[in-house]
Amino acid sequence: MAKLDALIEELVTANRILAREGVVDSFGHVSTRHPDDPRRYLLSRSRAPDCIENDDIMEFALDGTPIDARGRAPYLERFIHGALYEARPDVMSVVHNHSESVIPYGVTGKAIKPIFHMGASIGHDVPIWDSHDHFGDTALLVENMEMGRDLAKLMGEGATALMRGHGATVVGRDIRHAVYISVYLEVNARLQKQAMDMGEVKFLTAGEVDKVASRTTSYGINRAWENWCRRAGRPFRPDQG
Ligand SMILES: [Zn+2]
Repeated sequence: MAKLDALIEELVTANRILAREGVVDSFGHVSTRHPDDPRRYLLSRSRAPDCIENDDIMEFALDGTPIDARGRAPYLERFIHGALYEARPDVMSVVHNHSESVIPYGVTGKAIKPIFHMGASIGHDVPIWDSHDHFGDTALLVENMEMGRDLAKLMGEGATALMRGHGATVVGRDIRHAVYISVYLEVNARLQKQAMDMGEVKFLTAGEVDKVASRTTSYGINRAWENWCRRAGRPFRPDQG
């Protein structure tokens, strides 16, 4: 299978997994940087992630311009993806979602922090991007590069950011890594709420977060990926595209 075809297949699988694991519903999206041209990325046309097929995957310039739209309508919020690829050469995949358990943290200012082993990948600090700070009253959606770049700037070198009243954005070194962090950001948010309801929480220490993160390799991520592929009804390929 050609490299590009394999990556498109992987991106479709990522969409189905994110839907199956409750990170995206009818909204939310995942992209990957183009394997042959770092100034381009791959992202589905505007469609619910669980419905996405290979032919839905479009190619975009970093500024969000479709390369060959062929009548397909893009996501309004595609600028999130281009802005992060532009700002971060290390980033190869971006997930944007409105995953339910993270929303309360974005509106209360209550910091979301790694509470368990798998949650370490969300990073030491998860900053909150508030579109109102620089853009005032908007529809809350990231609908141009200026907003996307503002979000990318707040994210800095981190892996995650919450978006006030909206959702979250996650970046990774490849598709599986970005999906892995997205799934465990949602789980961490849910468990943290349960723990806070019970009393004072002892979070992972900074040193524990670093140690777990250094051991979060493709070996462990692939184990999760195989399981998630099965749950989503997608074929598992040991190597990503
Ligand atoms: Zn959104």
